[in-house]
Amino acid sequence: MPFDAKRGWHDPEVRPYAPFSLDPAAMVLHYGQAIFEGLKAYRGRDDGIYLFRPLANLERMNRSAVRMCMPTLPVDTVFAGLKALLKVDGDWVPSADHGASLYIRPTMVATEAGLGVRPAQEYLFYVILSPVGAYYPEGFNPVKIYVTDKYVRAVPGGVGEAKTAGNYAASIMAAVEAQQAGYTQVLWLDAKERRLVEEVGTMNIFFVFKDRIVTPPLSGTILPGITRDSVLRLLADWDLPVEERSIAIDEVFAANERGELQEVFGTGTAAVISPVGSLHYRGQDCQINQGKIGELALKLFNELTAIQYGRKADPYGWVIRL
Ligand code: PMP
Repeated sequence: MPFDAKRGWHDPEVRPYAPFSLDPAAMVLHYGQAIFEGLKAYRGRDDGIYLFRPLANLERMNRSAVRMCMPTLPVDTVFAGLKALLKVDGDWVPSADHGASLYIRPTMVATEAGLGVRPAQEYLFYVILSPVGAYYPEGFNPVKIYVTDKYVRAVPGGVGEAKTAGNYAASIMAAVEAQQAGYTQVLWLDAKERRLVEEVGTMNIFFVFKDRIVTPPLSGTILPGITRDSVLRLLADWDLPVEERSIAIDEVFAANERGELQEVFGTGTAAVISPVGSLHYRGQDCQINQGKIGELALKLFNELTAIQYGRKADPYGWVIRL
């Protein structure tokens, strides 16, 4: 669906996946006005197609658009379009049996040709669909995480809380170095002091201590994850004490040494819940929960996936069945 300053968003259409042409001076290529979202469609045992909090994704996309000086989307029209697309391509939503799903990637880019730095006047919004296999084909497994204090992902006042391409560009080098050292993902620290925990590559993070659960606050430099928000809601309903507060990486290591850190897990659309088996920081490795899957991580994973696949009643109104 294209946008221009005169007509606004217009002429939405469903068309087969194919390359499209872009002017070499398209402003997205130079100034990075590119935002996107990631959500999944699941096939339930009743053969229905389920979407998990799709409007939350579209609303977050609009917040990203505002931050990046891009036009916001008419959420109702886009949601109707997404449903129409899933009707056409519904057969691509894989069977639930193996935990597979259809990944949905709404994207918006600045298409106007221009060489000056300013907000573009023309954009394209499109949605890519791609079937994805189970995130844990061999079972639900802990990941190894590399804490970096060499690179930062986002700075205060920057675009860290927007889901915009530049944040991911900024993260690639740290991810490559972490992978070369044998780790799966990077844990980012704050830009100023380089000691406060922010988030993981594509996940928010939770620490389970003996007497409380802590997750970093939405400070403006991390992505407000929809899975994070859902987990906070479940934990509150289970009457578990949760704090959204700044937490220093040293506090995590010290608590682990005292035996007070029970679990660490990440939250995000891709893995839903990802137990963390070890953290590496400044040459030191700390194993968490003896590298095993934590009880709470497993409980949250089972609860969320049961709701997402329509196996369990959804008291929160999170799931939409098409
Ligand atoms: N942080 C970052 C940087 C991410 O890319 C993602 C994935 N969208 C998340 C956190 C988790 O967000 P969500 O739960 O909405 O997938």
